[in-house]
Amino acid sequence: MIDMQGVFSHTDYADTVGQFKDSNCNWSVFKELHKEVANNKCPICEVELDMNGCIGSSATIDHFRPQAEDMYPYLKCEPKNYILMCSLCNTRYKESKFPLVDESKRAVTATTIEETHDEQPLLFNPAEKKPLDFFELAFRQTEIGNILELKRKKSISKDSYDYGNLSLVTGSRVANQH
Ligand SMILES: [Zn+2]
Repeated sequence: MIDMQGVFSHTDYADTVGQFKDSNCNWSVFKELHKEVANNKCPICEVELDMNGCIGSSATIDHFRPQAEDMYPYLKCEPKNYILMCSLCNTRYKESKFPLVDESKRAVTATTIEETHDEQPLLFNPAEKKPLDFFELAFRQTEIGNILELKRKKSISKDSYDYGNLSLVTGSRVANQH
């Protein structure tokens, strides 16, 4: 997973937001900026993006909080709700899901990300928080060899908020799945 907080302090961020507003909510204008911060990798699985012959590697912009009517329709055009993902992470794994610890807390009427702060998401957004504050790298043996993955830090209490209840963790995509 790649720390994406640099997107918001990037010197081109304000200009890109301007372009986005002029374009009437064309979120693909954020793609190049996010790709630069992520060093052309998927921030979630770290696959190299837009590689010829690598199925699912094309760069997409995900609505981290999904734009569906019963999810977050008013965050559809909120730049802070966007995160770069490879098409495999976006369309096959994450899809339009956004699980919460307590579904009754879903901020369906939120018009800004700040208004979602009472939610306890079960997905981690590397544009909002530093991955290594919550996870550590660990090797795990699999049938195809050792893979390096992120594990929740033991020091993060399960009872505390801040992703302490996180159950959905992605590791780096293993080489032979490319
Ligand atoms: Zn990915």
